[in-house]
Amino acid sequence: MRENLERLKQRIPLLEYLQRHYWRGHRVGAGPEFAGLCPLHEDTHPSFYVNTRKNLFYCHGCGRGGDLIRFVELSCHLTFRESVTYLQEELAPTAQLLAHTAAFYQLELHRYPEGVQYLAERGVHDARLIEELGIGYARGGNLRPHLQALGYSLERLLEAGLMGPQGLDTFCHRVIFPCRQQDHIVNLYGRSIGNAFPHRLLPRSKGGLFAWESVRQFRALILVEGLFDLAMLWQAGFRNTTCAIGTHLTPAQLAQLRENLDRCVYIAFDQDQNQAGQNAANDLLQYLHQAGLNVRLLELPAGHDPNSYFTAGATAQDFAHLLEEAASR
Ligand SMILES: [Zn+2]
Repeated sequence: MRENLERLKQRIPLLEYLQRHYWRGHRVGAGPEFAGLCPLHEDTHPSFYVNTRKNLFYCHGCGRGGDLIRFVELSCHLTFRESVTYLQEELAPTAQLLAHTAAFYQLELHRYPEGVQYLAERGVHDARLIEELGIGYARGGNLRPHLQALGYSLERLLEAGLMGPQGLDTFCHRVIFPCRQQDHIVNLYGRSIGNAFPHRLLPRSKGGLFAWESVRQFRALILVEGLFDLAMLWQAGFRNTTCAIGTHLTPAQLAQLRENLDRCVYIAFDQDQNQAGQNAANDLLQYLHQAGLNVRLLELPAGHDPNSYFTAGATAQDFAHLLEEAASR
């Protein structure tokens, strides 16, 4: 185990990893040290030092330091074991396989009308947003020849969960949203447009909160259950919306919300007839509240989620009003 970890760290030098994740550091003098802004806290003066000979980092601002695995633990809010898996994944081309798959589905969206039709029915029509989110369409039955032509074996597709043991595509007649973490795809979410069970993810971690890199800067965040809720709110101008893909948050997602305790989180889960969404929202409210965050529950009309609220005719102004109401309660 110890030997494997050493090999892993040698194969991904810390400086290389940081640079790949957009860290800009400059060499200090003629030695093995680089300095730059700390990616772990809000930094205005370069206080983050990397020693390329020792393969270690130290920040004089927040006092944290260690090796590559420690850096991943801190920056991605993962446990030690999860960080190792995450780094092994970086070496293995699964992320690349998912990127190829998502790109294929994205092209397919424009080949068959049913995907775009479904998006329109759900109120998502902004072509630029569809492109930005990388939304695609899986017709089913045609992914394997495409990926095999790119050099992927059937075993790799089975292993990644893109195909089932019966040789059928996992995603069939589904609108696809790629889930990104940092700059690579960690999972794919498929929404059935037919009679199949509505929600499907690949059998792997759903990653952190959706589009976290683009929303973490906001002081007020809107948290929704589904990606159609998110797409709708982004389209209406609420770019501070993120999504847990479901009502259950993983430890990594909870840690992301707790990153900044000045944050206000507006929970906008479904107002289900059976109270499932409300109960989940209440549990989450308690948890985040105890963690020291300012949390508000949004009250949508009965039976609605943010997506259906807008398709039923609500405007951005109506939604902003609900936010104000929640803030004043
Ligand atoms: Zn720091």
